[in-house]
Amino acid sequence: MSLSTRYLIIGGGVSGPACSMAIREHDTEGGITIVCGENHPPYDRPPLSKPALFKDEWQFDDAYSKFDNFYPDNKIELIIGCQAKRIDRTHRRVQLEDGREIEYENLLIATGSGSRRFENGGNLPGVYYLRRLEESAAIKQAIHESQPLVIIGGGYIGMEVAAACAKLGVPATLIERNAHLWPRFAGSETGEFLKSHFGKLGIAFHLGDAASSIEARDGGLVVTTEEGVEHPAKAVVVAIGAALNTELALGAGLEGSPEHGVSVDSYLQTSDPNVWACGDIANFEDIAMGKRWHIEHHLNARWQGLAAGANMAGANEPYDRVPYFWSDVHDISMILRGDPENPAGVRYVGDVQAGEFAELRYDAGGALRMGLAVSHDEKKLDPVSDTLEELIRAKAQAGSITAESLGVG
Ligand SMILES: Cc1cc2nc3c(=O)[nH]c(=O)nc-3n(C[C@H](O)[C@H](O)[C@H](O)COP(=O)(O)OP(=O)(O)OC[C@H]3O[C@@H](n4cnc5c(N)ncnc54)[C@H](O)[C@@H]3O)c2cc1C
Repeated sequence: MSLSTRYLIIGGGVSGPACSMAIREHDTEGGITIVCGENHPPYDRPPLSKPALFKDEWQFDDAYSKFDNFYPDNKIELIIGCQAKRIDRTHRRVQLEDGREIEYENLLIATGSGSRRFENGGNLPGVYYLRRLEESAAIKQAIHESQPLVIIGGGYIGMEVAAACAKLGVPATLIERNAHLWPRFAGSETGEFLKSHFGKLGIAFHLGDAASSIEARDGGLVVTTEEGVEHPAKAVVVAIGAALNTELALGAGLEGSPEHGVSVDSYLQTSDPNVWACGDIANFEDIAMGKRWHIEHHLNARWQGLAAGANMAGANEPYDRVPYFWSDVHDISMILRGDPENPAGVRYVGDVQAGEFAELRYDAGGALRMGLAVSHDEKKLDPVSDTLEELIRAKAQAGSITAESLGVG
């Protein structure tokens, strides 16, 4: 069977529905179809490693990003539980796994990421990954029934799982190959604060040594590190990063790479003028930070979805946002604005030991590139985020920023 639509969106994560909203604002009539590979309407992932793990009453539809009537009310067709298999750009057609074909005028590829797998024992029963609703539910059950847990990876998802264990009083050990926690975007003082705070809440940390294997032994699991230290567990959560879902786009001959994503310009348009890409997989020309990269964060995906949708419907507006990331770990909230990569220097303002501080990263000329703020009071961080955005855009000297001027500490 062959269908046709003006706007075809592949991916029912964060950016897909955002794109459909923006299209509808600019084009009230054109047909919109969203192909969702999972057995759910589009949903948000941040709750999966936060309330979904520790709140008894939490349900799958708490993560759904739109009310059920949003799609029919906006004349958006959802195809659920069906993967797009192939894009034929010459005939502007997408083939679905059930054999259907959809002709499009404009196509958005928003296929997001999967979990990077752990090679040596990573498929054993009792080993979990966290990307999808069902995986979150399985980890919640493991937290309650399969103690102790070992968590591999001290990035934000690993730390959020550890925080859920701390909140529920469940014994857990976190293994991280780097010498400190949150290594991809935070410095050693921020990492030390987290280690000390969660150490007091019962989480054990094994840092500076990578997990090298997981084995089934004596009715449980054993995680062994490169230095030969063994950590027995009943369940292991692997949180070692994301793998971009680029096969569909690259298989269609679009420019890009599996590691860095699908190349788009600052309008989120690919090398094919009828095809856009956004969210985790988009390797985009970042106007605000003056570099080309891809970002694996919720608001980046949402904002890019909105921008791509507007542009698909003819708005012709470049994407220009200062990157924004957040994480919540038990009683601590964090927001990050800007670019954490390759700073020339780092300084801290506020009270690090009290968990009321900001880490500032700057370039060789001293201009602020990133601000990461931590507080026990989530509400304090909204104005801090706005101030950081202004300072980054103004290329303010990081050395002149104080805890008072930022509103931390
Ligand atoms: C557990 C967890 C917690 C997170 N917490 C935070 C947070 O606190 N803060 C933050 O900033 N970010 C967070 N993130 C990151 C954020 O969720 C991602 O950056 C965001 O989901 C990316 O959105 P996306 O639309 O690009 O892709 P995704 O949300 O990954 O959605 C892509 C969708 O496309 C589907 N798909 C893939 N291939 C096909 C195909 N061929 N056909 C049809 N469908 C397909 C996938 O199954 C998926 O449903 C978290 C991520 C996870 C996993």
